[in-house]
Amino acid sequence: MKPESTPDHLDCIIIGAGIAGLLAATMLNRANMSVRILDKGRGLGGRMATRRQDGAVFDHGAQFFTVRDKRFAPWVAEWCERGLVKTWYELGDAGNHYRGEPGMTAIAKHLATGLDIRKQAHVERTTFTDGQWQVFVGDGEILTASHLLITAPVPQALALLDAGHVKLSRSDDDALRAITFHRCIAALAILDRPSDITAHQGALVLTGEPIQWISDNHRKGISILVPSVTIHSTPSFAEEHWDVDDSVRLPKLLEAASEHLGAHVVSYQGHRWGFSQPLGSFHEEAFVDPQRRLAIAGDGLTGGRVEGAALSGLAAAEALIRLINPTRTAASV
Ligand SMILES: Cc1cc2nc3c(=O)[nH]c(=O)nc-3n(C[C@H](O)[C@H](O)[C@H](O)COP(=O)(O)OP(=O)(O)OC[C@H]3O[C@@H](n4cnc5c(N)ncnc54)[C@H](O)[C@@H]3O)c2cc1C
Repeated sequence: MKPESTPDHLDCIIIGAGIAGLLAATMLNRANMSVRILDKGRGLGGRMATRRQDGAVFDHGAQFFTVRDKRFAPWVAEWCERGLVKTWYELGDAGNHYRGEPGMTAIAKHLATGLDIRKQAHVERTTFTDGQWQVFVGDGEILTASHLLITAPVPQALALLDAGHVKLSRSDDDALRAITFHRCIAALAILDRPSDITAHQGALVLTGEPIQWISDNHRKGISILVPSVTIHSTPSFAEEHWDVDDSVRLPKLLEAASEHLGAHVVSYQGHRWGFSQPLGSFHEEAFVDPQRRLAIAGDGLTGGRVEGAALSGLAAAEALIRLINPTRTAASV
């Protein structure tokens, strides 16, 4: 049975407005649940992030996504139809590499339409008392809900539960704590002309140190007016330079990239990603505690990537909907 929802009390609170949280909220909304998303960021989309600077556009988190699962395919087909997603390049068995139009955040902005979302709402802890969830936001607000879905990267999700003294079973706790993440340092550079990276419409995978990926955002089709590149470091460079100043570490990345660029860097900025790629996964697409109506979802559960995060969010939504009505599934909503 669906618990009563009042203006002050929500059916579900979702922490995180990345792809996992946004897709889950969409499905829960369609199942007539009152849902609010809280995200600490100023923008939407989490690691599907786009930044604009001096006329240049950078996707500085996820660069592309692929579609392998038939549950994700209809969403992407709809986004393509709406012009929010385009094929960036195709690569053999890996198939279409999709990008957002005009950047990765386009998808999040579209999904957010009609959802109840609070940005810049940093959740500090979550407690479970008298059969309800209490969510404590940094500005002092306390929200309550019957269901809680946390889509922050797994270590951050566990920290929120720890802070509220919410204990999971030993085996679930061990399995979730085993999921750790690589880090990544991104250098975002404006160039005086498009780079020499012409293969795959400006996508270059590198295997050595200190760079693992360069995107030419102009050739990609997102930075039309101003040539720019996004450079992602290897995990080991990020570890070694995590607390080093941008003025020291970014020139190292730019120097290493110069042989591929063939253009001059006009200006640059950086971004630190504490959670780029998960190491490990959970044995289910989402963690669900039916007794407390708690779910944890996101890319860490499914081994990473945009599609994995999307499937995890959808799986969490389906499980929460089933708790209210066991005969109903997200697919039938
Ligand atoms: C550098 C980099 C490159 C990548 N490249 C690719 C790629 O090319 N292809 C691909 O498929 N994937 C790529 N990924 C991975 C992809 O971005 C992620 O798998 C996916 O976006 C994760 O979505 P999510 O919803 O699980 O989490 P997120 O997008 O991280 O969303 C979680 C949200 O939770 C919020 N949050 C966290 N803690 C709190 C709190 N306490 N209170 C409130 N809000 C909180 C965050 O602000 C965030 O918005 C890349 C990631 C990075 C960082």
